[in-house]
Amino acid sequence: MLKKISILLLLGIITYSCAKVPFSGRNQLSLVSNAEILPMSYDQYDEVLKSSKLVTNTADGQKVVNVGKRIAAAVEKYMREKGYEKELDGFQWEFNLIESEQVNAWCMPGGKVAFYTGIMPICKDEAGIAVVMGHEVAHAVASHARERMSNGLVLNGLLGGVQVAMGQNPTLTQGIFLQAIGYGGQLGMLKFSRRHELEADQLGLNFMALAGYDPRVAPAFWERMNAGAEGARPPDFLSTHPGPDRRIQELNKQMPESLAYYEKSNKQ
Ligand SMILES: [Zn+2]
Repeated sequence: MLKKISILLLLGIITYSCAKVPFSGRNQLSLVSNAEILPMSYDQYDEVLKSSKLVTNTADGQKVVNVGKRIAAAVEKYMREKGYEKELDGFQWEFNLIESEQVNAWCMPGGKVAFYTGIMPICKDEAGIAVVMGHEVAHAVASHARERMSNGLVLNGLLGGVQVAMGQNPTLTQGIFLQAIGYGGQLGMLKFSRRHELEADQLGLNFMALAGYDPRVAPAFWERMNAGAEGARPPDFLSTHPGPDRRIQELNKQMPESLAYYEKSNKQ
C-alpha cells in the first residue's frame, strides 16, 4: 500500500513538475528551479576559470565575447516576446576563451560559456563562432542540465527538492549536479543525449539567425568539424556530440524557419 501511495505521489510530482522547452514545446521534468541550480553552476564555472588560462586581449577573445553578447541579447528579446522570460531568471551571461588545444566549447546553466582556443580554427569567423555559441547557449536556455538533474534526483529517490536532497545526502546530490552539467573533471565536458543535442541544434540555429548571423553557414561548419575528426587530433567536441550526417539532415529541415528569423533580423 505504502509503495502504491509513493508511486502515485511520484507520478503526481512528475505530472505537476513539467516545463515546456521554448520553440520545441517539448515537455520536460522540472523538479529543480533556476534558483537552486544556478548558484551551483556559478561556483563550478568559477572553479574552471580559476584553473584555466583565459585569453582576453586577442581578436579571438573579443570575437567570442561579441558573438556571445549578440546572441544573448537576441535570445532575451525573443524569450520576452514569447512569454518565456521566466526561463532566464537569474541568468548571468559570461563568455570566456580558454587557452587549450581541446576542440571544445560549452555553456553551463545560467549562461556561463567557455570556448577553447582549439575550436577557433574550425569556427573560422564570427558566423562559425555563432553556430557553436547558438548550440551551447541552447542547452542552457532549454534547461537541459536542470532536466537531467531532475531525472537524477528521481532515480535516486530524492524527491523533496534540491535543498532537502542536499540535507539528506550532500555528496550524492553534488554528484547528480556534476553529472547533469556533464562535468567529468575534464574542464567541464558536457555530454548530452542525442535528443538534447538535436534540440540544441534546432534552437541554436534559430538563436544565431535571431542575432543576425546567416544560419546557412551551419552545415559547412559541421562539415569542417567532421573533416577535423579524421586528423591526428579528433575534436573532443565530436566525442560528446552526434555524428554529422543526421545532424546536417536535421539542420536542413530546420533551415526555412531559421532563415525567416534571419531575414526578419536583417530588416530591423
Ligand atoms: Zn551539445
